[in-house]
Amino acid sequence: MSQVRVRFAPSPTGFFHIGSARTALFNWLYARHTGGKFILRIEDTDKERNSDAFLKVIFDSMRWLGMDWDEGPEVGGDFGPYFQSQRTELYKAKLQELAAKGRAYEKDGAWWLRLEGARSPAYDDHLKKDYEKVDAAPMVLHDMVRGQVARVEDRDFVIFRSNGEPVFHFVNVVDDIEMQITHVIRGEDHLSNTSKHLELFKAFGVKPPIYGHIPLILKTDGPGKMSKRDKGALIEEYQQRRYLPSAVRNYLCLLGWTPADGKEVLPIEEIIKQFEISAVHQSNARFDERKMSHINAQTLRTLPAAEFATLARPILLETKVIDASISDARLTEVLGIVQEKVTSLEHLPEFMGFFFTSDFKKDEGAMANLTKKGGDPVARIRELLPTLEAAAWTEPALEAAFAAVGAARERKPTDYFAPVRFATSGQGGGAHLLGVLRVLGRDTTLARLKSFAG
Ligand code: GLU
Repeated sequence: MSQVRVRFAPSPTGFFHIGSARTALFNWLYARHTGGKFILRIEDTDKERNSDAFLKVIFDSMRWLGMDWDEGPEVGGDFGPYFQSQRTELYKAKLQELAAKGRAYEKDGAWWLRLEGARSPAYDDHLKKDYEKVDAAPMVLHDMVRGQVARVEDRDFVIFRSNGEPVFHFVNVVDDIEMQITHVIRGEDHLSNTSKHLELFKAFGVKPPIYGHIPLILKTDGPGKMSKRDKGALIEEYQQRRYLPSAVRNYLCLLGWTPADGKEVLPIEEIIKQFEISAVHQSNARFDERKMSHINAQTLRTLPAAEFATLARPILLETKVIDASISDARLTEVLGIVQEKVTSLEHLPEFMGFFFTSDFKKDEGAMANLTKKGGDPVARIRELLPTLEAAAWTEPALEAAFAAVGAARERKPTDYFAPVRFATSGQGGGAHLLGVLRVLGRDTTLARLKSFAG
């Protein structure tokens, strides 16, 4: 069995955003790839900024994305509690351990980590007030993503504040030690903290984990980092917009990582097999909502019909597009022709409402387009009707009917498509027209065409 133990360590101080989800996901993928353990640890030492609502969003979003944790809140494990707010006694004991070793000292009410090295005598007086400086050699970090990174930590730093609360660096390292974390995969914004963390490991006399700092996610336009306030930043949003969690997860995998063969839409089992932290890009990733939407559409297309129907039915019931009397067979028939065209489940009600009512919405823009092109949609439908009435109701027969009428009038068959689509669905686009007519059925189609043509 693999000894790998990784953790996702969010602070519940804000909504669960793309960056957090991607960090969690890379840890989860690494654990699943190596057969190790994925641990969820809640870094909730900042009492004022934490909230249960944020905590709930973290759990919900992670479960929605299918990132199950092997140890952590609501799951348990041998290394708990998994909330830092419940580990205060441990932190105090670990501080005493460092104090006993002479590696922590008290000054101005706070506790400081004493760095090793020669104290710098000529250190600036006004800085000296705040911290002691040492002549330290650069520390080389072998980062799984960044390669070799050299950093210098030359100032003692606070590990317990004067109000008695431990600081982030201290609890983060203590817990990584206590929870026997082997690999720390986290955002590049933490790279600058790593030298402090390595100093703490050294002070405790414990071998540090292997680090991997993953690239930032930039906003769609411009140089800035994606923030919680940017459009598309929150995972909840995709949940509400009825994205497929598997598609969102697939997209998140691509923020800083590319599958070896370049094929980007792939099942999670395949991603788990291929995923390597060492293959994570060093360059920043850029958030691209269009690509996310494209992956969602492509994933929808590959769903088995029965699964698609299971996802669609509650949405269509809720929006009153169908009622409970619609059989599975009928629903599957209609969905069969829209599945390859619809880009999100959210659009289904609007996209397919006309199959279930003749009182459908008419898209004014589409109507304007029909006449703008100099066509006379009513005339086209009148020309078509006798041939259509005589046709067998199969797609090849319908296609032949359009072709015959077009040929007789020296028109393209497509001149008839837009008027027929509009008259039967009120739309200017949608699923393959002949499929729409077949599934609508002869009686409904002809009735709608006649009512349109007056
Ligand atoms: N609580 C920290 C954060 O949310 C975790 C840092 C780490 O993964 O070490 O950024």
